[in-house]
Amino acid sequence: MPVADYHKYCRMLERAREGRFAYPAINVTSLTTANAVLKGLAESRSDGIIQVSTGGAAFASGSLVKDMALGAVSIAEHVHRVAERYPVYVALHTDHCQADKLDQYVLPLVEETEKRRASGRPNLFSSHMFDGSALPLKDNLDISVKLLERFQKNELILEIEAGVVGGEEDGVKAEASAKLYTTPEDTLEVARRLNAIKGACYLLAATFGNVHGVYKPGAVKLKPTILRDCQEAVVKHYGEEARFFLVFHGGSGSELADIHEAIDYGVVKMNVDTDTQYAFTRAIAHHMLKNYDGVLRVDGEVGNKKNYDPRSYLTSAEASMAERVKQAVRDLRGTGTTMFKT
Ligand SMILES: [Zn+2]
Repeated sequence: MPVADYHKYCRMLERAREGRFAYPAINVTSLTTANAVLKGLAESRSDGIIQVSTGGAAFASGSLVKDMALGAVSIAEHVHRVAERYPVYVALHTDHCQADKLDQYVLPLVEETEKRRASGRPNLFSSHMFDGSALPLKDNLDISVKLLERFQKNELILEIEAGVVGGEEDGVKAEASAKLYTTPEDTLEVARRLNAIKGACYLLAATFGNVHGVYKPGAVKLKPTILRDCQEAVVKHYGEEARFFLVFHGGSGSELADIHEAIDYGVVKMNVDTDTQYAFTRAIAHHMLKNYDGVLRVDGEVGNKKNYDPRSYLTSAEASMAERVKQAVRDLRGTGTTMFKT
């Protein structure tokens, strides 16, 4: 199916919240990893979200060019083309973009969408995240409001973050003193500012102790009830239509019980990167160790072209990552939930 348009995407989010499941949002950095996500989603009969981080996008543009907007365009165009062949809907999203990177990343991509819309073509991306979590909430929301006004005109969905996700992603590390738990007061302020923009749609990454990366059991203390408290506060204050679409960052390595509880409180998107990175690399490591004298020219031998052709191990990596995507879909109770009907 084509990439989900705005109405399909909004419907996807509503269905997930009503049906108490969530979409995996998987980070990709290449054609192969994007294809792995599509394969995993298709085999799960689940819709989902493909996302690109600033670093992933810079990587995708090539190490000599390192242009994050260009790399993101390239991946998105690939997904638009190949997604037509898969019987599920996929949305295209850009991950964390801090305020100082908006000019290099999100804004050129929004401009690209505006150009496309002006010539009657579909949006390039379906949604973008602005991560103002390092700023005071007022500054974060001042920027978010401006973005959302522009997004609303272009049928784009904005993801924002209130509170800080711990750990490190893309070389951006949360401060040790960071505010890892969002408060109901924060989220009321989010609703007050953003719901004033009529007809706009946004996603909220409220933090409840989640961290990027994978840690040994016990190191991460999640408090999903924070999400419940935030939803209850906003619904009490602004009515049922103000209920948030929540995003769970740092989903890799989380306990299933915490994931399910978070979904019950309105999480509709869970970001997965570390676990799918590992699945991809695990298959390559296996190939290299198993075919040591095939992939290398050892002791004057010539190796085995079948073993060192990158397609051999990248095909295994694609399959392994797709399996991990399928597990993410199962964990998020999404198997078989696609809106696509054959
Ligand atoms: Zn994140």
